[in-house]
This record gives sequence, C-alpha cells and structure tokens, in this order.
Amino acid sequence: MAESLVLIEHDRQQVKRSSLHAITLAQQLGGEYELLVIGHVVNKISSSLVSLGATSVIVADDPALAEPLADRYATVIAEAVRKSGAKNILGTSSTFSKDILPRAAALLDAPMVTDVVAIEQMDGSISYRRPINAGSMFAKVKVEGERRVLTVRAAAFETPAANAAPCPIVRFDVDAESLPNGMRFISREERKSDRPDLTEARVVVSGGRPLKDKETFERLVGGLADALGGAIGATRAAVDAGMAPNDYQIGQTGKVVAPELYIALGISGAIQHLAGIKDSRIIVAINKDPDAPICQTATYFLVGDLYQIVPQLIESIRRA
Ligand SMILES: Cc1cc2nc3c(=O)[nH]c(=O)nc-3n(C[C@H](O)[C@H](O)[C@H](O)COP(=O)(O)OP(=O)(O)OC[C@H]3O[C@@H](n4cnc5c(N)ncnc54)[C@H](O)[C@@H]3O)c2cc1C
Repeated sequence: MAESLVLIEHDRQQVKRSSLHAITLAQQLGGEYELLVIGHVVNKISSSLVSLGATSVIVADDPALAEPLADRYATVIAEAVRKSGAKNILGTSSTFSKDILPRAAALLDAPMVTDVVAIEQMDGSISYRRPINAGSMFAKVKVEGERRVLTVRAAAFETPAANAAPCPIVRFDVDAESLPNGMRFISREERKSDRPDLTEARVVVSGGRPLKDKETFERLVGGLADALGGAIGATRAAVDAGMAPNDYQIGQTGKVVAPELYIALGISGAIQHLAGIKDSRIIVAINKDPDAPICQTATYFLVGDLYQIVPQLIESIRRA
C-alpha cells in the first residue's frame, strides 16, 4: 500500500514542472508513493512520469474530466485515495490545487496543511513548517488523524530525479455518471504568449504603480523581460490600475514565484508583495526612493528613475 499519493498538474499536454516538487516531499515522508493524473487524453503526460520513483502512475482519463472542474476532480481524488489507502495526499501550491485539494480534504474528512516548506520530527511525530502572516513568520503545524492533505511551496523542495526504473501506468476507472454536476465548464480565456509561465520562469520582471499605463508597462517591463527571456509579473497596484492583467499579480493574494532572478521595477516592497517573491534567489530592485522598504529584501538595489535606467538596460542586454 502506498504511503502517499501525489496529484500531478498539467496543461496543454505538458506536466507543470512545479507540481513535481511535491514528489520530493513524498520521498522525505518515506514509504512508497503513487502519482495521480486526472484529465482526458493524458497518455503522453502519464508516460513522461514513469521514471520518477513512484510505484505506479494512476490515470483517471475520461471526457468528463477534460476540464479541471473542482467538484469532479475532488471526487476522483477522494475515490483514488480510498482505493490506494494513501495516508498523505500531496500537491504543489497553485491556483489548481487551491481550488481542488480543500474539497478533496473535506470529502476525506482529513486535515489540510498548505504551503509546507519543510518537515520536522516533533515529539515522535511529524510537524509541517509553513509561512504565516504573509511570510513574515513560520508556524510548525501538527495534525491529527489517519490521513492528511498537504501542499508544498515548490521552491522549498528540489525537483525529483527522473532516473528510476519505469513503473506501471494503472488505469483508474471513472464512473462519469456518478460524478457531481454542480459546476459547468463555459470557456477558457488564454493569453497567447511566447513568454514562459510566471510560476516556472527562471527570470521574472515585475512592475509597480509608476509604470502608469498598459503601453508603458509592456514597453518597459515586457521589454526587459523579453531581453532576458523572462516572464512578467506585477504588483496589485499595477493590476488594479489596469496596467497588467490579474493573472500577473504576485504576492499574498496573487502568485508565489521563486525564480533565479527577480527584477522589481518601481515596487515599494509592501509585505503583501514580498510574500510572493521571498524565495527568489536574486532580487534586483530599481527604485528612486533610497529608503523604499524593498531595499531590505533586495540582493541588489539600484537607486534611480526606472524611466532612465530600464531603456538603457534593455539596450545593453540586447547589444550584449
Ligand atoms: C489584504 C491585502 C492583500 C494584498 N495583496 C497584494 C498582493 O498579492 N500583491 C501586491 O503586490 N500587493 C498586494 N497588496 C497591496 C500592497 O499592500 C501594496 O499596496 C502594493 O504592493 C503596492 O504596489 P507598488 O509597490 O506597485 O506601489 P507603491 O507602494 O505605490 O510603490 C511604488 C514605488 O515606486 C517607486 N517609484 C515611483 N516612481 C518611480 C520611478 N520613476 N522610478 C523608480 N521608482 C519609482 C516609489 O518610490 C515606490 O517605492 C495587498 C494589500 C492588502 C491589504
């Protein structure tokens, strides 16, 4: 019987790399683990997962699961867990898992701990370390009960090696008629972009309030991101002002990113924004105020007007 079941996230026939980090937590918790892929026509995705050290890749493939409707996915997860007997149900912190895993936890009547960054032994059992108060403090959490649902911060766990002997792919039969019908898929709005996914990018360039409007934001933030092959992010102030779309927002109420390089253009460094960037390896901030709070978090802090610095930076990077 597997100790852990890891939910794998995918989009447009690609596994979301960040969802693999939860496998490393499964390895640290010990025992065998299985991977769960839910969707429709997911053969390519499941085949790409067989060497990650799992005992099997469980595949729930049905037209009724073509879109990630939370009520259906949660039901499938709960059924797969009951069948496998797994004690730990794991996923990576993301919009997808935030939508689905709390419902699965409720169906399983299991406690849930989100944003786990480490595990520790405490009084003979495991405690989970997770950020609280927008990342300004950490809590150690212990949970009771036979099962638990956990999500991990991708940056806190390495990507697992993909060098194990291939494991079997096991079909999980879904009775589509018995799945809940409380939600209906209407449409998907996709922004066509050659830029990398914000949560997976190695470089993220973000802009704040002084970028003024959409065009200026795209010219300066987008221009620097493109010169570096990076993704674009924004503060809530920039999103609220209509300079950037909602899904660019980084922070407590936005996305959490952990790139190798994070460049903050005209961003003050409010605690709610820092909550989404703290795990970045190098933070470069450009701000005209030498006392802006972000100077305490930034690895490199350039004091100056972004309207002068950024065009020069884009030009020099392109020339180099
Ligand atoms: C419950 C709650 C949740 C929130 N969640 C989020 C969240 O998820 N993400 C988020 O980002 N915010 C969030 N906020 C908002 C957050 O508190 C800040 O208001 C916001 O992050 C500020 O954005 P900003 O840095 O772009 O703007 P400002 O704080 O106005 O900072 C602008 C900065 O630009 C500098 N500047 C101005 N002109 C120039 C120039 N020409 N060149 C260089 N620098 C210049 C200024 O010196 C200043 O430091 C949340 C707030 C609340 C209450």
